[in-house]
Amino acid sequence: MSAADEPGRGLRVIVDPGVCLGGGQCELICPDVFEVSYVSRVRVEHVDPLHADAVRTAADACPSGAIRILDGDMAKGGGEPRT
Ligand code: SF4
Repeated sequence: MSAADEPGRGLRVIVDPGVCLGGGQCELICPDVFEVSYVSRVRVEHVDPLHADAVRTAADACPSGAIRILDGDMAKGGGEPRT
């Protein structure tokens, strides 16, 4: 496995507060990255590789699709977020 293939390398995560329902599933799954008060926000936009799988699980579990993951070249500002 090359360094570029490492899980979580270059991973960024954002939450759309206009779409978030505030139920808190993301925080239950990965509290090191997500924090929910009224709506969810990310504690750290650039995700530690240790949390990459949990962030992907949280995005899959999000009922509103508010969590966007950007990785690879998109994490550097190019391209559209992956939903
Ligand atoms: S799981 Fe999705 S809708 Fe629920 S609090 Fe997190 S971002 Fe918001």
